[in-house]
Amino acid sequence: MQPLRGTKDILPSDIKIWQNIYDIAKNLLHNYNYKEIRTPILESTDLFEKCIGDFTDIVNKEMYNFKDQSARRVTLRPEGTSSIARAILSNKLYLNNHMNRLWYSGPMFRYERPQQGRQRQFHQLGIECIGSEKPIADIEVIQLAYKILTQLKCNQECSLELNSIGNIKEREMYTEQLTKYLTKYAKELDEDSQRRIHKNPLRILDSKINKTQEILKDGPVLKDYLSIESLKHFDEICENLDYLKIKYNINSYLVRGLDYYNYTAFEIKTQLTHHQNTLCGGGRYDNLIEQLGGPKIPAVGWAIGIERLIILMKQKLNTEIIDKKIYILTEDLYNINFIWDVINILEEYNLQFELDITNINLNKKIRKASKVGAKTCILLRNNEITKKQILIKWLNTGKQQTILFSNLKQYIYYLKTIL
Ligand code: ATP
Ligand code: MG
Repeated sequence: MQPLRGTKDILPSDIKIWQNIYDIAKNLLHNYNYKEIRTPILESTDLFEKCIGDFTDIVNKEMYNFKDQSARRVTLRPEGTSSIARAILSNKLYLNNHMNRLWYSGPMFRYERPQQGRQRQFHQLGIECIGSEKPIADIEVIQLAYKILTQLKCNQECSLELNSIGNIKEREMYTEQLTKYLTKYAKELDEDSQRRIHKNPLRILDSKINKTQEILKDGPVLKDYLSIESLKHFDEICENLDYLKIKYNINSYLVRGLDYYNYTAFEIKTQLTHHQNTLCGGGRYDNLIEQLGGPKIPAVGWAIGIERLIILMKQKLNTEIIDKKIYILTEDLYNINFIWDVINILEEYNLQFELDITNINLNKKIRKASKVGAKTCILLRNNEITKKQILIKWLNTGKQQTILFSNLKQYIYYLKTIL
């Protein structure tokens, strides 16, 4: 029996790396006063159609839509921002707080062709800074993504791409000119782009097809259609990133796949992989909450794909985890009270341990522990137990020493300094 295509088990051997990512993100975001939010995985299909937009890939072909037992149209969430915008409204979070700084993590679902770094159930870690239209909010969220990647020691392999896509009016003016221009070359465009000319021409900008990119080179440029206000917002972001020494490339073809963005759009890519190399995507969405029927609340945020981040981390780092566990190996389990006394002390001192309760003999237990990379063993042999003694054996060096049970606590002090 296999899991569904495009879904994967995350096994205990990988969990450490997942927890490491969450721990780093959680601590950093806590310092910046971002609060965790958990929204339902299942939402009404309407929500995503309204938020993400009809002519986007996600809504057109990637959503897991179905009807529940009462024939309601429901969807397994394909991304986090729509649900958070909904939660802000459902819970009127804007009434008490002018600013809502939120973060989330969890599974997302998109019906795509599974490949390296692309799954049907994948995971995102995301943040949203809701309530400010100021460039400093954009800078704060970009900086946080950068800091998380830095703490995970991945920043050297990553690059930030940045663009301003203006407001809706500016984009409309530009889209009109772009459509006019591309219609002249329609026959030379790739099939996908041909379909998009009238439906979602902006998406043609990030086409990966060389011929299409060549045609675009002589076409209208979005920047020329931006107002002074939009340009000022963008320039301020760039100036601050310079000050913070966060490197970026301005990519005027970066538009992102979701309709709700305005002004700032950005992506963080890795150079280590060629396919599915976008780790993080984000931008400003000043109209989304209003579009859902709420007040006008400007916001900016991003989402990082955890699976893609882990691929990068595994390529880069030796993720082998040092085994700090204490193995408790006994001849048999007859002196159970003594075993409990030892365990209680290990627990009291917050040491991780594993008591071998299999039926094999002590020598085999030692060999087994050695095979899984154990360093420290506590051997409880019956003739020593009667003398209230414990044998400590270091499997990496072969050294061993006998100590009195009454000295175990003292020994643990020493143990903690070297583990
Ligand atoms: P792509 O262009 O690769 O399809 P996207 O623009 O659809 O990405 P976003 O909606 O911006 O992706 O999602 C943010 C991040 O979530 C991506 O940068 C990526 O790391 C991750 N992601 C998106 N879709 C998938 C997927 N199907 N499998 C794994 N990770 C994904
Ligand atoms: Mg996609």
